[in-house]
Amino acid sequence: MTTKLRVLDDAVPPDLPHEEGHGDAPGALGTSDASAYRSSLEPRRVFVDTFGCQMNAHDSERMVGLMAAEGYAPTEDPEIADLIVLNSCSIREKAEHKLLSAAGSLKFIKEKRPDAVLAIAGCVAQQEGKSLLARAPHIDIVFGPDHIARLPELVREVQQTRRRVSETEFLSRSEFAFPRLTDASSVPVSAYVSVMKGCDKFCTFCIVPFTRGREVSRDAADILDEVQWLAARGSQEIVLLGQTVNAYGRQKRSGQVPFHELLAQVAAIPGVRRVRFTSPHPSDFTDAQILAFRDVPELCPHMHLPVQSGSDDVLARMRRGYTRAEYLAVVRRLREVAPSVSLTTDIIVGFPGETEKDFQDTLSLVEEVRFQAAFCFAYSERTGTRAVGLDGVVPFEERARRLRILLERQEQITGEWLSSMVGQRLEVLVEGPSKSDPARSTGRSGQNRPVHIDGSFLPGTMLEVEVVEAFRHSLRATPIAKTPMATSVASSSAA
Ligand code: SF4
Repeated sequence: MTTKLRVLDDAVPPDLPHEEGHGDAPGALGTSDASAYRSSLEPRRVFVDTFGCQMNAHDSERMVGLMAAEGYAPTEDPEIADLIVLNSCSIREKAEHKLLSAAGSLKFIKEKRPDAVLAIAGCVAQQEGKSLLARAPHIDIVFGPDHIARLPELVREVQQTRRRVSETEFLSRSEFAFPRLTDASSVPVSAYVSVMKGCDKFCTFCIVPFTRGREVSRDAADILDEVQWLAARGSQEIVLLGQTVNAYGRQKRSGQVPFHELLAQVAAIPGVRRVRFTSPHPSDFTDAQILAFRDVPELCPHMHLPVQSGSDDVLARMRRGYTRAEYLAVVRRLREVAPSVSLTTDIIVGFPGETEKDFQDTLSLVEEVRFQAAFCFAYSERTGTRAVGLDGVVPFEERARRLRILLERQEQITGEWLSSMVGQRLEVLVEGPSKSDPARSTGRSGQNRPVHIDGSFLPGTMLEVEVVEAFRHSLRATPIAKTPMATSVASSSAA
């Protein structure tokens, strides 16, 4: 689903006519006839290219599953696909540019194969709606995240009517259905399960509340039913997904349970050996959620806890809803309860008004917490967010300088931590063969670190390994034994 499309020139073609039945020689098949002939022999194919976050990757999996139920096989080659979906992201400027460039390249495919249905999904689609159809006459469907479950219906509509469709209004709670995996042949060892959608936080730099709507938690019974289905088909690790995942159930609607209870209930499902969740919001933590890292052995000792800045002034301008001290209090409590927990984070530098002192506060927070990894970004303005127009714009070069300094320091900290792992024993869930070396398998430790293991092991094998080498972002290990144990914070100081 990550195949790159060819980027062609940006000349805008006229709206492409739907060609019917003309050929080079008597009896030759025209475009539509050829497609019909081919489709009677071969499965139709769907290509989904994903931009942006894990939520989008999960949505893309679901789209592939929905289309599989309609007889579409997934392909990595957009040039032979009958349906192409670009699942867009607008959280970073780069992702949006990449989407627009990929969308431009689809003109070439539409010219060659007018019957192919081209769609843009995700956050850019939600934001731009019909204007995307106007700007890109070769695109057939634009649809927002609320309409994923309707993808087969939208595709059929375009095929039958050749009318172009835009679906971007938010659905009400009762109308919205959380899309779930239905294709048993593509069940992964580690499966994402949506527990909520949207966000009520409205951080000033973020577009998500405008593109994914307000927070809606899913019924616990529906979540548990999906987890049971996945576990029965081989998923051993369940990653609960939401924009502010630990806000799950906060609205206390019927059918929901507190998030810590949901964690325990998911972990208790037969076949589930590991549970993770991403991404929590620091101000939504309850002590019961933190204690789950002690009380639920299947809960992996890793947490991605976005901080964004170490400066109270910047946090306030970002409207993050916590102070530096409050963030550090969550980290301290977590490490008290689960000393082996690994922490990763997101950081933005160069937010409007960020002074050198604010930046130094971020660096000092990084020193204090010693994150195992951090996704660091220079601030870039997103149209439609509240940060647009804030005073104190930091010059681009200064943002780049701060980012460089932060990345260098974080790389050192990550490197020191990875080196300290050499000689330790870990439990690793194998996900498949290594991409770079077929003599090795790749999996993840409980702390969510990629581990390359000498030897070939089936996906889903849980192995005890010894770390023998540290790379820049991953580890190499030799196998010791297959283990029937579930990951345990208590039993594995470096799991
Ligand atoms: S918590 Fe803030 S950054 Fe995260 S999705 Fe919500 S608005 Fe965006």
